[in-house]
Amino acid sequence: MTREYLNYINGEWVASKGNEYRENYNPATGELLGKATQSTADDVSYSVSMAKLAQREWRNVPAPKRGEILMKIGDLLKRDKERLAKILTEEMGKVIVEARGEVQEAIDMAYYMAGEGRRLVGQTTPSELPNKHAMSMRVPVGIVGIITPWNFPIAIASWKMFPALVSGNTVVWKPASDTPALATKFMKIIEEAGVPKGVVNLVHGSGSVVGEAIVDHPDVGVVSFTGSTEVGSELASKASKKLKKVSLEMGGKNAIIVMEDADIELALEGILWSAFGTSGQRCTACSRLIVHKSIKEKLTERLVAKAKELILGNGLNEKVQVGPVINENALKQIKKYVEIGKQEGATLLIGGEREHIDLLKDGYYFQPTIFTDVDPSMRIFKEEIFGPVLSIIEVNSLDEAIDINNNTVYGLSSSIYTADVNAAFRAMRDLQSGIVYINAGTIGAEIHLPFGGMKQTGNGHRDSGLAALDVCTEWKSVYVDY
Ligand code: NAD
Repeated sequence: MTREYLNYINGEWVASKGNEYRENYNPATGELLGKATQSTADDVSYSVSMAKLAQREWRNVPAPKRGEILMKIGDLLKRDKERLAKILTEEMGKVIVEARGEVQEAIDMAYYMAGEGRRLVGQTTPSELPNKHAMSMRVPVGIVGIITPWNFPIAIASWKMFPALVSGNTVVWKPASDTPALATKFMKIIEEAGVPKGVVNLVHGSGSVVGEAIVDHPDVGVVSFTGSTEVGSELASKASKKLKKVSLEMGGKNAIIVMEDADIELALEGILWSAFGTSGQRCTACSRLIVHKSIKEKLTERLVAKAKELILGNGLNEKVQVGPVINENALKQIKKYVEIGKQEGATLLIGGEREHIDLLKDGYYFQPTIFTDVDPSMRIFKEEIFGPVLSIIEVNSLDEAIDINNNTVYGLSSSIYTADVNAAFRAMRDLQSGIVYINAGTIGAEIHLPFGGMKQTGNGHRDSGLAALDVCTEWKSVYVDY
C-alpha cells in the first residue's frame, strides 16, 4: 500500500485541500515509496497563523523548559536512530553508515541546543550614568520559515529547527520534495516529545508554491534556507524587498590541496571519501583536487586504482560504499557535465557513465568519475556538479595552490594535506572558505562549530554552533534607571 505523507499543522495531520500528491521513489531501486500532499499558499498561510498563535505562549515558556523538550527529542531520535537511518537510505540513497552518522548529528544537535536553554546569555555592562543598569538579551524573531534540501534531510532540519525552538520561536518547515518520509518520521518524534501544537508545522510541497509562500508571508520573520545558490539568491532578492532576514547556506566547489610532503595514504582516504561519499552530493564534497606537480602522477595512479575498487549499490547493503544519486534529473545533469568536460579538453581517467547495477531494477547510479588536465577556465572546474565527479589540477607551489583554491565564486570547505606546519597555518589563514581542514577530507563537520560558507555559498549566517542563534534571535538592549 502506498504510504501517504501529510502536513502537520497546529498539532493535526492533514492533507492539503488542493488534493494533489507527489510520488517519491527509492533511488536505489526505482521502487515507489509513497506520496506526499502538495500544499497551496493557503496551507502556508494557515500554518503561519497557527504558528503565530502558538508563539505567544511558547516564547514565555522558560528557556530551560524548552531545552528539556529538546532533550526529550534527542532521546527519541536516539531510540529510533536505526529506523530513521533506514528511511533516509531508502529515500535518498546515501549508504547506511552515512545515514546513521547523519541521524547522530540531529541527536547531537538536540542535546547541544537543549543546553542552550540554560544559557542564552546576554550581557550586563557598566552604565555611563549613575543609578542606571544596562544589559542586552536575546529575543526570538517570532516565526522562522525553514526550507531544507534533500541531501541532509534530518541533519540540516535539526541545525535550523532546534536553535529556533530553544530561543522561543515557532516554525513553519518545508522539507525537500524528494524526502517526505523522513520529514514525516522526524515530525512524529517532535510531536511525541511534547512540543505544543502549532509550535512546529510541517508543510509538504513544491519550492515554487510552498517555499515562495513562506518567503512572501509578512508574518514569517526570518527564512532559513539551505539549497542551491540559484534558488537561494532569487529567494534573497525577494525577501530583501520586504526587509526580511534570510539565512542562506548554498552551493560549493570545494578543493583538497595535496602538497609534496603529504602523507599520501592519508590523503587518498580523505579524497575518496570527500569526492565520492554520498555520491558527491554533499555541499562540502570535494570536486577539485589540487596536487603538487612532483607527486601528481603517483597520486593520480593510486587514486584511480582505489576509485575503481569502490563498491556501488543499494546503500542498505553494509558493504556498499557509494549509493545512487537522487533521481533521473541528477543523472542527466552529471552526464551533461561529463560531456562538457570532454569537450573542454579535460582527460577522462575513469567513469563518466551511468552504472546499471541490476538490470531488473532501475536505480540511479553514476560511476565515480575522475578528470585530469583540467584548467581553471573550464566549467567543470568552476560550476557545482553535485555528483561523483572529481577534477585534478597540477600546481608548482603552495601560493599557486591557494590561489587556485580561492579562484571560485564559492567558499564552503577546503582542505590541505601537508607535513609542513608553516604551510598548514598559511592555508588556515588564506583559504577563502567557511571551513578549513588540515590533513583531513572536506567533509565531517561537528555541530558545536559554526557551519557555512563565504562568498556565494552564503550570506554570513551560520547553521549549527552558537552562531545559529544569531539567525533566529534579535538583540534587545535594556536600560533600567533606579
Ligand atoms: P534546491 O535549491 O533545489 O532546493 C532546496 C529547497 O528549496 C527545497 O526544499 C526546494 O523545494 C526549495 N525551493 C526550490 N525552489 C524554491 C523557491 N523558488 N522558493 C523557495 N524555496 C524553493 O537544492 P537541492 O537540490 O534540494 O539541494 C542541493 C543544493 O543544496 C546544492 O547546491 C548544495 O550545495 C546545497 N546545499 C548546501 C549546504 C550548505 O550548508 N551550504 C548543505 C546542503 C546542500
